[in-house]
Amino acid sequence: MQDFLFRLSIPVVLTTLLALMLWGAFSATFALLFMLFALLIVIARHGRQLYKLGQWLNDPRFETMPEASGIWGEVFSRLYKMVKQHNQTKQALAAELQHIEQATAALPEGVVILNEANHIEWFNTLARQHFNLDAEHDILQDITYLVRQPEFIDYLHDGDFSEPLLMVPARHDEMTLSIKFIPYGDEKRLMISRDITQFKRIETMRRDFVANVSHELRTPLTVVNGFVENLLDMPDLSKESARRALQLMAEQTRRMDNLVADLLTLSRLENEQSPVHEEPVDMGLLINEVYRDGESLSGGRHSLRLEITSASGLLGNRDELRSAFGNLLSNAIRYTPEGGDIQLRWFERDGQLVYSVQDSGIGIAPKHIPRLTERFYRVDRSRSRETGGTGLGLAIVKYIAMRHQAKLEVLSEEGKGSTFSLVFARKRSSSQ
Ligand code: ADP
Repeated sequence: MQDFLFRLSIPVVLTTLLALMLWGAFSATFALLFMLFALLIVIARHGRQLYKLGQWLNDPRFETMPEASGIWGEVFSRLYKMVKQHNQTKQALAAELQHIEQATAALPEGVVILNEANHIEWFNTLARQHFNLDAEHDILQDITYLVRQPEFIDYLHDGDFSEPLLMVPARHDEMTLSIKFIPYGDEKRLMISRDITQFKRIETMRRDFVANVSHELRTPLTVVNGFVENLLDMPDLSKESARRALQLMAEQTRRMDNLVADLLTLSRLENEQSPVHEEPVDMGLLINEVYRDGESLSGGRHSLRLEITSASGLLGNRDELRSAFGNLLSNAIRYTPEGGDIQLRWFERDGQLVYSVQDSGIGIAPKHIPRLTERFYRVDRSRSRETGGTGLGLAIVKYIAMRHQAKLEVLSEEGKGSTFSLVFARKRSSSQ
């Protein structure tokens, strides 16, 4: 600083000395005029540099830095160093901020930063989706103007955030959000929103499933219970009546047995710890076996045909394939009235391998088709039960298809019949 002042004062001191000498040699007026002129030149030079500095500060880049020598050269170079350092710090901070923004955007949760007045300071992409926020207009808006559900406002004002709030956001009827507030810093709050729709759906499915199983078991159990009580109350029942009651009880226990067997099959298929044990399966042999089972189930009530036009075998699990193929055939038999036609086929189509069962049965209305593979979904409950159905057959088929990367195709027309096909990729083919 001292050096700076010293260099700044040199021209003034020199001018003053020269002026004193001129005063001695000529006159005071001359000396004063000289001094005035010299100082004006000094001021003009500083003024010019100041102007250049002002211009440069509008866009302080190294390339546009004004050329200057002496004291002004030093001023510019010091300023440039400061601006450069400032720019570097700014860039580093911007990079850091971007980094944090990217990390927060990648969070599987919505994040909104609220200030002490519950005004939005910042939010990430997921929060924008959850609450339909707009980065341009909603910053510094009161969150309660944008999320207006009364339960949300009550939760925010109550201030007890120990339990999350479950809420259906506006304009997202099918979504459920779990919302939490985390206080931090100077009365600020982080609002975290998590989409728990899938979790809720699974929870509902689990509850429905337990209710369905209980219901399915309850009906035959009630029947069996009724007969047991009758038998106990009437010890002198005729042998014939007792035999008839026992027969009906056996029928109901068979029904429960089928249900439990299907439930166990489903749970085994669902269990990811039991991967498909694959082997080359001779499809000619397997489909013939399924066909014979079908003949005995039909008991001659239908005209069954078998058509095998592909010699290809299949890489897969024999027991699972037998169960899926058998399920489709038994459905065809159960939902086709006496005298109907059923055709079983194994063929190749567009480079894929297809197992199909076509029947001339009761058919299915289009609205039911997408739901057929849901557990316990039945188009006609009483018909399914009368024919010994558990409502789980197609759910089992779907799982087996998934485990073999196959597709289940359903074509059906009400009153005319249905075709259920399992379509396997060519790469599953195994030579015989
Ligand atoms: P279920 O044990 O009731 O037959 P599934 O899961 O096998 O259960 O089938 C679900 C429903 O799909 C059946 O209840 C029936 O309404 C319908 N369905 C399945 N296969 C056929 C078919 N071949 N023809 C007509 N309806 C069928």
